[in-house]
Amino acid sequence: MREGALVRDGVLTMADLDLAIAERRASVDVPELRRAAETIAQDQRPLMLGRAWDVVETFLPTLAALCPDVDAWEASGPMRRSEPLVSGLVIVGRTADPARAIDCVARAPVASGVMHQSPHRIVLLVDGHEMDIRITTPDAYGSVLFLTTGPAPHVADVLKRRSPRLCATEADVYSHAGLAYLPPETRDAADALERAHQPSLPRLVAREDIRGDLHMHTTYSDGREPLKRMAHGAQALGYEYIAITDHSEHAGASRTLTAALLERQRVEIAQLRREMPRMGILHGMEVDILPDGSLDCPDDTMASLDIVLASLHESGGQDSAQLTRRCLAAIRHPLVSAITHPANQVVGRRAGYDMDYDAIYAAAAETGTALEVDGAPAHLDLSGDRAQAAVRAGVTLVIDSDCHRLRALDRQMRMGVGTARRGWVEPRHVLNTRPLREVRAFLARKRAH
Ligand SMILES: [Zn+2]
Ligand SMILES: [Zn+2]
Repeated sequence: MREGALVRDGVLTMADLDLAIAERRASVDVPELRRAAETIAQDQRPLMLGRAWDVVETFLPTLAALCPDVDAWEASGPMRRSEPLVSGLVIVGRTADPARAIDCVARAPVASGVMHQSPHRIVLLVDGHEMDIRITTPDAYGSVLFLTTGPAPHVADVLKRRSPRLCATEADVYSHAGLAYLPPETRDAADALERAHQPSLPRLVAREDIRGDLHMHTTYSDGREPLKRMAHGAQALGYEYIAITDHSEHAGASRTLTAALLERQRVEIAQLRREMPRMGILHGMEVDILPDGSLDCPDDTMASLDIVLASLHESGGQDSAQLTRRCLAAIRHPLVSAITHPANQVVGRRAGYDMDYDAIYAAAAETGTALEVDGAPAHLDLSGDRAQAAVRAGVTLVIDSDCHRLRALDRQMRMGVGTARRGWVEPRHVLNTRPLREVRAFLARKRAH
């Protein structure tokens, strides 16, 4: 448990610390806060975005049941910005009587350890994780959401433009500061404030724009669910189409597609298409790009599939130039439709392979090969920055779940969309915001070359 000046100043979590730094509170000097930040960071290992959603989404229904008077609950902090690593779980609630709602939360059966309680705020342990809950009146909801969303430098930049007042909506916070509203995912961008000076901002891609998911795994490779359950789950989400893309035979996955399994899968998909006439089911494969740049699948097999995803899973100890050459060889292969998790980033472990991304974006744009924003929490790749650079180079992106279990199908798509939004990606930049016939036309165009 932390003690001393910081606790007196209400600094209990990383989110508090961000705020205290942003507000430059007089009683605490910045070097001290920085030192404390390091301690808290060691104390509370950041969570992967997927795990953070797990904890928060499981807890939100409990909160809603406990506090029927709270008419809005929203995850805030780094989660709301779709940061790949989340330090500090924050939830904001809105009600006319915050103190009463805080009392209700304190009675939560899962609230094993209440670490702090005041009329507008409670910090408790949920599933072993600190959960910082702020409950506010409607007139201040926008301000609290804005302050807790962060990041601290952005909050400070906006607040110093004009003496802040309480706002009911975040749009009011920005307009009071003479700025255009910035979506949470864009607030980390170096050019955020510059963009907010523009008279209007583009509408970013949203989960509702997504018509289908072109990357998912089933029990034919290392997925947990049978193909049929994935297809029905996708239909229940309102998707118009999906691609089934299990791993190629020599991929490092625990189970992969042999030629015999692929044929069985083909038969099952044909049957499923008859059972589900409204769902477009594309038969695809996630094919490994081998160390020499060739693909882990014969050309005639790839030609028999509707879509081919190529992935650089293993570096094979190769240097930047060799990895770039491998990736470019796959992009230039006429049967490759998209490159999945192109940088092969591993969140928290590896920022992505060191490659010549400009050359990769140029080749993808020239050949009509889509580059993926992969929503699996370990990937979230392309990152927002890279997605933005790819779009600028004229690349068509595809946002996928890369889902291995049904219950994550929607969540991983949302995380993919959140990642793309960090790079200012719009619906028109994304292949799977388009109807199936346009997707098919895009895939056919490359093959025709
Ligand atoms: Zn993969
Ligand atoms: Zn995959």
